[in-house]
Amino acid sequence: MKWLIGASGTSALGITAYRLLGPGADISSAPGLSGAGGLSELAPEQILSEAPNQLEFLDEFGWTEADLEAVRLDSKKMQSPDRYAEGDVFLPSEFRQALPSALARLNRAQGYYGHGFFNIVGFKQLFETAGKTTEIGRFSIDELGLLQWLFFEDAKNFGFKGPKVSMDFLAGFTSGQVHYERQFGQFLFREKAKPLWERMRKDIGRDLILTSGARALPKQCGLFLAKLMDSQGNVSLASRSLAPPGYSFHGSGDFDVGSRHLGDENFTHLFARSDVFRRMQGLAYIELRYPAGNRFGVRFEPWHVKVGS
Ligand SMILES: [Zn+2]
Repeated sequence: MKWLIGASGTSALGITAYRLLGPGADISSAPGLSGAGGLSELAPEQILSEAPNQLEFLDEFGWTEADLEAVRLDSKKMQSPDRYAEGDVFLPSEFRQALPSALARLNRAQGYYGHGFFNIVGFKQLFETAGKTTEIGRFSIDELGLLQWLFFEDAKNFGFKGPKVSMDFLAGFTSGQVHYERQFGQFLFREKAKPLWERMRKDIGRDLILTSGARALPKQCGLFLAKLMDSQGNVSLASRSLAPPGYSFHGSGDFDVGSRHLGDENFTHLFARSDVFRRMQGLAYIELRYPAGNRFGVRFEPWHVKVGS
């Protein structure tokens, strides 16, 4: 009598849980064994009669059960970045009330400056303008407290593992640093981002579009506060799909691209299936900042191009 092995599920680590199939079991129902080649390629010694011992398996890699549990938890969070997970950190209560008004004010500022230009305005410039402009209005003490907390708090405390990129809370970008890509209404850092973008456009063609370029802090804060509103103040959840203010590589050169054919769906998993992405993968000089399973604690972002280190 022969016992066949079928995978009944694969864990986060790629460790397969084994299921024994009895005689006469429907082979086609055993994942991994169906399809071309499947069974006929299995040598008799590969047909195991016992499931491997997981602890021994871990030991081979110098892993403990606690390591496995931590990776499982991280992986679970990344599979559903938009869901509450155990241990998530929430916005401290003293800042919660200021959340909607700070977001509304940043949105008004974006309307005032325009979507393109707002990307490069720093807080120094914004604070000066806001007080003099009724359309935006002066930031309240509580709103300032919230914005500063987000910038100065160590993001590791809420589970974001990437490095801090921008150190100056007040700085914006100058026209010497950034170039305006008129067709897309986005700015690119002149030194590294612009030549990389132009090379990509030349190799991939007009289907490649620029969806987001350089972002100074007010823009990143606006995006992050909007995420926080959606997540009911869950800072950890918001950080799984958007770098917290100060931690975004859009502050130092990275940019996001898309496919002309995808529109609003460019920031979804559909981009990874697009022809533009397929062509990006064929170009060795392009690197993604947040590949699948990245060490920053951020979901897979096939659209986010890494610029510099
Ligand atoms: Zn991005």
